[in-house]
Amino acid sequence: MMPTCRDVTRKATALDEGALPWLERMALQVHLLMCAHCRRYVAQLRLVRRQAATLPRDAAPGELQAHVRDWFKHRTP
Ligand SMILES: [Zn+2]
Repeated sequence: MMPTCRDVTRKATALDEGALPWLERMALQVHLLMCAHCRRYVAQLRLVRRQAATLPRDAAPGELQAHVRDWFKHRTP
């Protein structure tokens, strides 16, 4: 079954880390080929993750997500 945009956004971090099984990775890559929205999301996530690398390694996932949301908010004109 094809992943949805929701699946892509949920799994984008694991995809970026190469932490997904190849079948799942391929399915997401096919989705990215067809979906400009998710391509942009994944590209921006990579930028954010570079920014977030300055956070403490033990930051809770919730805190990291809040940071990412803030970062997007401040980037949006
Ligand atoms: Zn999509």
